[in-house]
Amino acid sequence: SAATAVVGRLAPSPTGALHLGNARSFLLAWLSVRQQAGTLLLRIEDIDSPRVKSWAIQSTIDDLKWLGLDWDYGPDQGADVFHAPLIQTQRMERYQAVLTQLREQHCLYPCTCTRSEIAEAASAPHESQLEGPVYPGTCRLDSLGERVSQTLTVPPVDANFAWRWAFDDAPQTWTDCVRGTVTAHPASQLGDFVIAKGNGTPAYQLAVVIDDHDMGVTEVVRGDDLVFSTFRQLAILKQLGWTAPRYAHVPLIVGPDGRRLAKRHGDTRIATLRTLGITPEAIVGYLAWSVGLLQELMPLHPNELLGCLTWQSIVSQPTV
Ligand code: GLU
Ligand code: ZN
Repeated sequence: SAATAVVGRLAPSPTGALHLGNARSFLLAWLSVRQQAGTLLLRIEDIDSPRVKSWAIQSTIDDLKWLGLDWDYGPDQGADVFHAPLIQTQRMERYQAVLTQLREQHCLYPCTCTRSEIAEAASAPHESQLEGPVYPGTCRLDSLGERVSQTLTVPPVDANFAWRWAFDDAPQTWTDCVRGTVTAHPASQLGDFVIAKGNGTPAYQLAVVIDDHDMGVTEVVRGDDLVFSTFRQLAILKQLGWTAPRYAHVPLIVGPDGRRLAKRHGDTRIATLRTLGITPEAIVGYLAWSVGLLQELMPLHPNELLGCLTWQSIVSQPTV
């Protein structure tokens, strides 16, 4: 029935060309939904200006299609949001309405710290801090040691500040479909995070929670660089009273040096490989083999993977 149907999503950030690394995560997200005969939606995560490149939206769509990864249109519920692809920059009003709700629920506080002030005050980064140092809570105004004070002074909209989420002082645990039980103390290990700019522009953490909810997403398959962001997203979800999707954080491809595949390892853009005459089947076969779905390297169409192991059996043992 519609209530229990699997809904997944491909959520590319058009900040550059699709490359082997993100293609593998998208292949696994695609495969998981297709193996369960679910619905797969496309979402363009284009709010992260100035990193977003307008050309990258179409090139990502072209590359996904060329690889044989397709997606569906969501059920027409009379709302634009259910039509794929969902474009984040078209949803600012929706994000701002939820932001206002969270402010009124006293989950957020304005932070006027500069990057260098945070770097100076911060403790040593936790393994989760791919983005930078742990914010030490300088601007947090909860003198009662509880929720953020109701009477905080909000800087003028044109001032340079950010809204931060005030984490509860408690450990959090959840279960990932690939990694198993994940535990952290978000308040000290991750730090209060930016949920929106002072002008109301949402951060990724806010947009992704609202989008997954509005799209009816039941499962999130993505790279394990986002495993700690899930603590942030679960905190927002819980506050809004929304059901969490299940999460599967899949290993990223690493280079021969054991580090996450990146430019330093060479040009792995799909468009470049295509120019070199490499077939989409060769790339899909390589990606499937590299994550352990195939015992032998062989070219194939994504549909030929449907009878393979499911992502539950993907081990966290990335290979090249
Ligand atoms: N847009 C992110 C990326 O391309 C993925 C975000 C998500 O799946 O939640 O890495
Ligand atoms: Zn601050």
